[in-house]
Amino acid sequence: MKINFNKNNDGLVPVIIQDNRTLQVLMLGYMNEEAFEKTKNEGIVTFFSRSKNRLWTKGEESGNFLMVKSIDIDCDQDTILIKAIPENVVCHTGSFSCFGNKNSKGFLYELEAKISQRIDEKIEDSYTYSLFQKGINKVAQKVGEEAVELVIEAKDHNDTLFKNEAADLLYHYLILLKVKNFSLEDIEKILLERNK
Ligand code: AMP
Ligand code: ZN
Ligand code: ZN
Ligand code: ZN
Repeated sequence: MKINFNKNNDGLVPVIIQDNRTLQVLMLGYMNEEAFEKTKNEGIVTFFSRSKNRLWTKGEESGNFLMVKSIDIDCDQDTILIKAIPENVVCHTGSFSCFGNKNSKGFLYELEAKISQRIDEKIEDSYTYSLFQKGINKVAQKVGEEAVELVIEAKDHNDTLFKNEAADLLYHYLILLKVKNFSLEDIEKILLERNK
């Protein structure tokens, strides 16, 4: 792996750290050649800190290390992309990523979190919680009904109705996962495994 450490005459290249599981961008740091070699050899991210003016192993104080999964170099060898598994929050402000806490896996995961919150906090006037309270058979039955409605709309030619039934199914499917104590990620893992 040939890296051009002297493009900026300071021996440093920018390093983008991405969550290996979600591809969320976690932080940006810099490495000199020594930091890069150490990172490669140890499998734990070490930067060169411009403010500390020394090698800085991310997590050296907090214990929140970044475990390296892959290292890629960009087209002109002056930027490094590292996919890593963070051991905990990455940002010193306490947020998961230096670019904020918003879940970059998308709205479905936000919806899943909202459904969980409605149920865990027993929000009485929430439809989600009232359905949950009726128990697993009722929730499963509801998923079945929505699936049948989707099948019926699939045979029709009304795109709006079809898309709405597809949304209904997805929403109730998330509630069923919650009732069964599974997460969307558990299911995603199975699909990822099959995709290998
Ligand atoms: P750590 O490397 O996590 O043990 O943190 C040590 C120190 O590095 C902290 O006190 C911060 O000053 C700094 N620091 C930690 N994480 C970050 C980060 N993601 N971005 C910038 N500075 C950081
Ligand atoms: Zn480049
Ligand atoms: Zn930060
Ligand atoms: Zn429906």
